[in-house]
Formats: sequence, structure tokens, C-alpha cells
Amino acid sequence: MRLLSSFHRDELLDQLVSQTYDLVIIGGGATGAGIALDAASRGLKTALVEKQDFAAGTSSRSTKLIHGGLRYLKQFEISLVREVGRERAIVHRLAPHLVVSEKMLLPLIKGGTYGKMATSLGLMVYDVLAGVESADQRVMLSKEDTQKAEPLLREDLLEGSGLYAEYRTDDARLTIEVIKTAVRYGADCINYAEVTDFIYKETKNGEKKVVGVKCVDCLNSTKTFEIKAKRVVSATGPWVDELRDKNNSLKGKRLHLTKGVHIVVPHQRLPVNQSVYFDVPGGRMVFAIPRGNVTYVGTTDTDYHGDKHNPRTDIADVTYLLEGVNNVFPGVDLRVEDVVSSWAGLRPLIHEDGKSASELSRKDEIFVSPTGLISIAGGKLTGYRKMAERTVDLVFKKLERKPRRTRTHTIVLTGGEFGGVASVEDYKKEVLDNLIAHELGASEAHYLVSNYGKQTDEVLETFFEEREAGEEPHRAMIMAELDFCIHREMIHRPLDFFSRRTGRLYFNIESVERWKEEVLKEFQKQFNWNDDRIKEERKWLEKAIYEAKNFTHTS
Ligand code: FAD
Repeated sequence: MRLLSSFHRDELLDQLVSQTYDLVIIGGGATGAGIALDAASRGLKTALVEKQDFAAGTSSRSTKLIHGGLRYLKQFEISLVREVGRERAIVHRLAPHLVVSEKMLLPLIKGGTYGKMATSLGLMVYDVLAGVESADQRVMLSKEDTQKAEPLLREDLLEGSGLYAEYRTDDARLTIEVIKTAVRYGADCINYAEVTDFIYKETKNGEKKVVGVKCVDCLNSTKTFEIKAKRVVSATGPWVDELRDKNNSLKGKRLHLTKGVHIVVPHQRLPVNQSVYFDVPGGRMVFAIPRGNVTYVGTTDTDYHGDKHNPRTDIADVTYLLEGVNNVFPGVDLRVEDVVSSWAGLRPLIHEDGKSASELSRKDEIFVSPTGLISIAGGKLTGYRKMAERTVDLVFKKLERKPRRTRTHTIVLTGGEFGGVASVEDYKKEVLDNLIAHELGASEAHYLVSNYGKQTDEVLETFFEEREAGEEPHRAMIMAELDFCIHREMIHRPLDFFSRRTGRLYFNIESVERWKEEVLKEFQKQFNWNDDRIKEERKWLEKAIYEAKNFTHTS
């Protein structure tokens, strides 16, 4: 079985330069990952190149919902609601530990976005379009029942609520599992390698066509290499126009980037019983989502023109979200000091003249340049599989090959081999039984299974070895996770581990401070790093911790 090991990099680099691929994908976010899996599983010789860590762009910075897009109903984007709604059920089946069904409470507030009738009708239409099973369909609650369900909601303006079906996920984990699954189907996927330009060839009739990409190894900037390919897809999210510009094809439609911020507070400071989707002053709606020991709140939606690699949370974003929370949950009195972490992401939307950030469509679009570069932009995490299907259908057409039909709706993602939702809970109990003997409990079992699914077995194997060697349980566990991520998930920097693979930077930031030195030491040992490299990585990690906890003051 092919694995995504951090130690296979040299071998992988040799492989990438030694053949001509049917398809090279630029960008290892959810969109690129989905295309890699779809293409490889349809028999195309496929490579994927990501300049940062996998999912380090927008695909680790979303609201982390696989959702039917209720707000798109308001914009009458019926086909989008239908597509993403149906996709939820499919992705849930492919990774039942990672895409988890959860009820969302939509409080009805006097003067809010939706009235009672409109909400009831809207949620009913949503259920039908999204194909929600009858047991999961919307329920309208009276004011009293809403208060019982969520006692923190303000009483004076509350009129009742709607309870509807959503799915929670972890965007970065979903992306890495899709990439690992693509690798199993033969795709060659590499991170920390940047596409700097395209390779062109003149055809017999004098046309210039893209026949590959020029790359630089971001872990060793003196090393450049080329990958030859019959077709090239750019799935570079917020960077799509940069690549189109390099290809001299940035004409017509362009991206419109908007920034979305989430803040994280201890659950005890915003102890919601379930996820809530509520009105904030000014006519927008935001989510409050409980996860482990924290609740996260988001998002904002403002135009963005800054550095695409590192969008930051501004104090104005925090104030906006806190005011929204305090308006609907008046008793909690959340303050800036309560915010323990945060993140900001960029929506790569397609520009439409005269429309504000919130009004722009979330639909995806494919552009094909005169030299044959295929770019895909816009869309949702939720729609990654369908976007991939459309893109690979087009690739087959451009290759002038008889298309094979997509199979990704039947390909279970790595870690998702449960054969049903009930088995996830049974498996969690099994894991818990194993952990209790080692002084760990239900929260660790829940975390492990949500993060790694069935691959928890592999993490536990190393954990037991560490325990036998006399290691303390918490240290044994972090080392076991690290070992798994090094050998199976191609991490090259401690931040890859703390942010994209384990979500600790956002959802358990104290544990990053607690374990950072131990993890740095282990990296030094495993990768033979010198002291300068360790210093550089420590600085990088500390900067990420600082930026998650502190905000810019631009306004
Ligand atoms: P990205 O994840 O940004 O991936 C593009 C990748 O290309 C990056 O990793 C980048 O490093 C790489 N790249 C760029 N240039 C190069 C180069 N030259 N060489 C190599 N690699 C390169 N969707 C949902 O379904 N549910 C939600 O709850 C949700 N919430 C959201 C909340 C916010 C605040 C935002 C911003 C978005 C949200 N979305 C949500 C949308 C969703 O996150 C995005 O649609 C999706 O993550 C985009 O993925 P992508 O792969 O296209 O882009």
C-alpha cells in the first residue's frame, strides 16, 4: 500500500521528474485533493503539488461545516442548495467519524432575518432540496421549548426556533484524508513545493500549449525541478488569479477575496448546548459551535486585499463577533480577554459588479485558458467531490479520451472504514476501554476517533509501545500521534502537526504550549535538524501561537 510518509520525499521528487503525467494539479486544499482522488481513481496518472502544507490555505480556515447552505436559499441559489445538500450525505458515508450529523438551532428573534412562517417554509424546502431523511427533518420549536433547549438565549425578543440537520467536520483533516486516499489510488502528492511557472510547447499548428510546471522545493530553495504533464489544473483557491496571470490569461472574470474570522472561547464562557445559527446586528448571521472544551464563533465577511498567506484576525472582527454573541446570549457577557484563539480565512469568490461581500455567489467556476490551463475557483468545501467530478470530466474531454465515470461516491476515505455510523460509537467505546487502563478517558477517545477514525489503531499501537517503555500517558499519546503524522501524513514542520493534523492550535492551544518543546525535540531527532533549524521552527511556531491569540489593530 502506498503511504504519505515524510521520509519518502526524495523518492517522490525523483518520481515526479521521471515521467509524464496525464494530469498535474496545483494546490493541495480540498479542491485539489478532491480532483487528485477523482482523477487517480479514474485511471489517470496524477500528481499534485502544494506550496505550503496540505490544507494550509482556506481549507483549514473555514467554519468546518459540511452544510446544505441554508443561506443560499435566501439568495435563491436552488441548484447549489440541492447539490451541496445531497453531497453532505455522501461525504458522511465516506468518512462517518469525520463528517458528523449535528442539529443546528436557528432562533427566531423579533426583527431577525427570518420570520416564523418563512423559516418553517424555508427549512422544509431545504429538507426537500437537500434530501434530508424524514427522521432528521426540521422541527419548529415554541418559545418555551427553545428556552429549554438553549437557556442562554435572550428571552425578550425570542419567538421560537427551528431545529434542522447539519454536519460538522474538520476541514484540514478531511483534506488530508482525501489526499491519502488519492495516494492509495496511485497519485503522487507533495507539499512544500511551489509551482513558479508553466512549461509550454508549440503544437504543429503553431499554438502554444501548457505541457507541465516548473517548481521550487520550498524546503530547499536551491532545488528546482520540472514536472511534465498532458494537462494542468490550477486549484489554488485565493491564488487562482496569480497563476492565471503567470499564464497570461487573467482576462474577464476575476476573484473577489473576502475574509472570514472565527474566534474561540472556553466552552464554560459560552456553554451552548448545541450549535446555534443566529442573527447579528446589521442583517448577517453567524454560527456558535461547541467543540470539545471550547465554543467557536464565526464568521465575518469583509473585502480583503492583504497578504494571502497570512490573513489576520483584527480587533474589529473580534468586537463584531462578541457584540453579536452578547446581543443574542446577553447573560454571558463575553469579552476580548475570553478569546483564547482565532483564525482567519479567505473566500476565493468570483467577482460580480455591484455586489457586496455577503451577496457574492459561492458557486464554483472553471476557466480554460487559450494555452490549456484549467483553473477552478469559488465553491465550497462541501462541494469538493462534485467540483472534482466536473473538473476531471473536462480533463478527459481535453485529453480526448473516452471518459470513465467518477467512482468517488463509493470510495471510503482513509480512516472511514466503519460500515455505518453506529460502529463509530462502538469503536469509540473500544478505544475508551483501552485508554482507561492508562489513565486517559472519554475526551481522549472522542478526540482520537474524530481525528483519525479507524487509524486510531495505529496511533494506539505506538502509544502502547511508549507506555511499555515507561512513558507517562499524555506524553506517550502525543508522541504516538506525532509518529503517525510523520509516517502517514507527510508533516515537515511542527506547525503542520499542531495546526492542520490535530487542530490543537485552535481548539486546545494550551496543549501546543505544553508540548511544543518535546515535539521540536522529536523533530530534531527524527529529521536530524541542526540548532539553527530548531530555532527557526520554534520562532515559526511561537509566531503562530501569538497570532492566534493576538489581533491586529488596523481600523
Ligand atoms: P485552498 O484551500 O486555499 O487551497 C489552495 C491551495 O493552493 C493552497 O493550499 C495554496 O497554498 C496552494 N497554492 C497556491 N499557489 C500555489 C502554487 N503556485 N504552487 C503550489 N501550490 C499553490 N465551505 C463549506 O463547505 N463549509 C463551511 O463551513 C465553510 N466555511 C467557510 C468559512 C470561511 C471563513 C471561509 C473563508 C470559507 C468557508 N468555506 C466553507 C469555503 C471553503 O473553505 C473553501 O471553498 C475551500 O476550502 C476552498 O478550497 P480550495 O482547495 O479551493 O482552496
